[in-house]
Amino acid sequence: MDFNSFNIKVVKFGGSSLADAEHFKKVADIIHADPTRIFVVPSAPGKRFSGDTKVTDMLYECYNTVTAGGDVDSVFGRICERYNLIIEGLGLDYDLTEEFNHIKWAIGHSAGRDYAASRGEYLNGLILSKYLGYDFIDPARYIRFFDDGSFDSEVTNALLSEELKKHDNGVIPGFYGSMPNGTIRTFSRGGSDITGSIVARAASADLYENWTDVSGFLMADPRIVDNPQGISYITYRELRELSYMGATVLHEDAIFPVRFAGIPINIRNTNMPEDPGTIILSHTEMYDSKHIITGIAGKKGFCVITIEKPMMNSEKGFGRKVLEAIEQENISFEHLPSGIDTMSVVLNRSEISSCRERIVNRICNAVEPDAITIEEGLALIAVVGRGMVKSKGTAVRVFKAVADAGINIRMIDQGSSELNIIIGVDENDFEKAMRAIYTEFVD
Ligand code: ASP
Repeated sequence: MDFNSFNIKVVKFGGSSLADAEHFKKVADIIHADPTRIFVVPSAPGKRFSGDTKVTDMLYECYNTVTAGGDVDSVFGRICERYNLIIEGLGLDYDLTEEFNHIKWAIGHSAGRDYAASRGEYLNGLILSKYLGYDFIDPARYIRFFDDGSFDSEVTNALLSEELKKHDNGVIPGFYGSMPNGTIRTFSRGGSDITGSIVARAASADLYENWTDVSGFLMADPRIVDNPQGISYITYRELRELSYMGATVLHEDAIFPVRFAGIPINIRNTNMPEDPGTIILSHTEMYDSKHIITGIAGKKGFCVITIEKPMMNSEKGFGRKVLEAIEQENISFEHLPSGIDTMSVVLNRSEISSCRERIVNRICNAVEPDAITIEEGLALIAVVGRGMVKSKGTAVRVFKAVADAGINIRMIDQGSSELNIIIGVDENDFEKAMRAIYTEFVD
C-alpha cells in the first residue's frame, strides 16, 4: 500500500508543533507539501523550551485565579503576548484584540473551566486558518457531549460529516466541543488527538496524520533502553497494550473513532518530516515486523493482594466476592493471576493507599480466607507483539533473559490473545529486566 496515494488526510499538530511562529512555518510547509492534507486540527501552543508554560496551563490558571477572586490581568496578558508573538513572527496582518477582550470577560463571568481551557485551541485555530488561508470550523457547533459529559460519537459524526462536505479545506481546533445546553466541554488533557480522530472519521479520511515532536513509537522507553529501534507498523490492539503500560505518544481515546472506521493513523515528527514515523492499522499481516515482539513497556507502582484458602476453586462466587470487595472501594483491578488455592489481585498502589485496611477487612468478611497478604513494590512489564501469536518459545526467551540477568519473576500473566506476556518483577529490577528483554529480542 502506498501511503502517499490518499485523497483526504486529516492532520493534527500537537502543542509543541505550534508553540511559536517558527513551528507554524514548519507546519505550513508540511501542509503545503501535500494537497491531500485538507483538514487540520491544531492544539494550543505548547512549551517552547523546558521551563516554559503551555497556554492551556495558563488558561487553567486564569480560571483558578478568577474563582479565587483574584485578578487575571498578568497571566492573561502573558497569554495574549504568546499569540501576538506568533502573529508577528508570521508577518500576519491580524488583530485578535476583540477576541482577547471577549475571552477575558467571559472567563470572569462564569463561562466555566472548560471554556477557559478551550480558548487555547480556539485562538491557535484562528491564527492557523488565517495563515493557511483555510476555512475556520468551530467544533463547538459539531462535536457534542451528552448531559453526563460523555462524548456523543454518533450525533457528532452526523453533524460534522455534513459540515465538512461544505468545505474544500478547514482548520478545526482540537480539544473541545459543546454540551446540549451550549456550554463548552473539553476532552481530558491531550484531547486534541481525539478531535483529530473524530474529524478523520467524519471526513472519511484515508489517513489520520498525527504530527508531534517524536518520530513515532519506539520499541522501548529511551530513558531505559539506549537508542531503541522505532516501530514502523503496529496494530490498534498492540498499541492499547503498550499505552496501558505507559507508552504515551497518543491519547488513548484517540484510537476509537478511526479504528471504528478502519482509518490508519500515522505518527509523524514535525521537526523531522522526512521520517516515516509509525503507522497504526487494524491489521498488519502484510507488514511483517522484523522482530517477534513489537514493543516492551512497563510501569512501577503496583501491589498484589494474595488470598489463600484451600478448595477455593470449588467455592462458587469466590472470585466475584473478592472483586466486589475491591469494587466497593471504587477501585478497579489491573490483573488477576490465580492458582488453585490462591488468588492474586494486582492493583495500583496509589489507588489503594488510603483504603488498604478497609479492602483487607472487606475481603476477610466476604470470603474468610486462611491468609491474606499485600506485597508492595511490584513493577509490571508487558512484552507485546502480533508476531508472538502462535510462535513457539517466546515465553521461554522472556523468562530466560530475565533469569540470566539474575532477576526473579514475581508474577506471570499471558492473555489468551497471545498478544502479550506480562511479568511482574521487583521495582528495583525493573530497568534491568526491560533491558534484558529488549536485548534478547532486538539487539
Ligand atoms: N491543549 C490541551 C492540553 O494541553 C489539549 C491538547 O494539547 O491536546 O492538554
